[in-house]
Amino acid sequence: MSEMDYWYGCIERVCVVDEGKDSGQPKIWIYVRWYYRAEDVKWYDTSIANRMKRRELLDSDECDYIHFASIDGMVKVAYVDENMATYDETEDREDPASRLFTRFDLEVKIVQDEGRRPRAVGVTLRGASECACDGCPDRAYDDEYEQRYCDRCERWMHLRCLARVAEKLKSELIHALFEATCDDKELLRCITKPIARGGVHKTFGNGNEAMKVSDAWKCLKRGEDVRGWDEDVNTYALWPEAEEALYYRCPNCKQHWV
Ligand SMILES: [Zn+2]
Ligand SMILES: [Zn+2]
Repeated sequence: MSEMDYWYGCIERVCVVDEGKDSGQPKIWIYVRWYYRAEDVKWYDTSIANRMKRRELLDSDECDYIHFASIDGMVKVAYVDENMATYDETEDREDPASRLFTRFDLEVKIVQDEGRRPRAVGVTLRGASECACDGCPDRAYDDEYEQRYCDRCERWMHLRCLARVAEKLKSELIHALFEATCDDKELLRCITKPIARGGVHKTFGNGNEAMKVSDAWKCLKRGEDVRGWDEDVNTYALWPEAEEALYYRCPNCKQHWV
């Protein structure tokens, strides 16, 4: 069986009806909240299923009692907060898409016809971050397309929407914000890279690395010694290396650059 052939659920409660001391047959029921795989959600909404990554699970509100003997094992599911730029890396410093992870909630509509088991008839996705740009044609995140992050607003927006609605900022202007304080060329290069995900930046983007660089920058501004700032930073994630990035003024706060 492959990893995605299993059903996954979060254990909410363990109900011991009979420990089985006398009978030798314990009766233990487990109350679980189901995760939906792309495989499960495709029957209700293919547009959600098509956007899901291979190891992605949706945290549904559908609960059920299952017999304890039907549990095969325990796994870790990484939770990703869609409204943040950062995420928990796996132990080998991969992004969460390299293991089981969940980032959206799923509301499941259940009906129960007389004398029959309750069944799901529809689903609604909750908790997806929505592009902050006016007139965005498709607010959901599709990791084929680049998004930028405003640290002040804690929101993501499509690069293609920014190009349409936001004020474009010259790279000299962005560099000027840092140049006077920073004579470390590589730090200057990294701090002037926008926080991005999708496209070449992959599903979870460069947020973790960008935030480490931002911390180094804050230290530098306070006059602290930041030598060795890049020891723990994968500067390659702050892509593209040589090319100038396109910068925009965040259309939501109209203050930060993205
Ligand atoms: Zn958009
Ligand atoms: Zn903003």
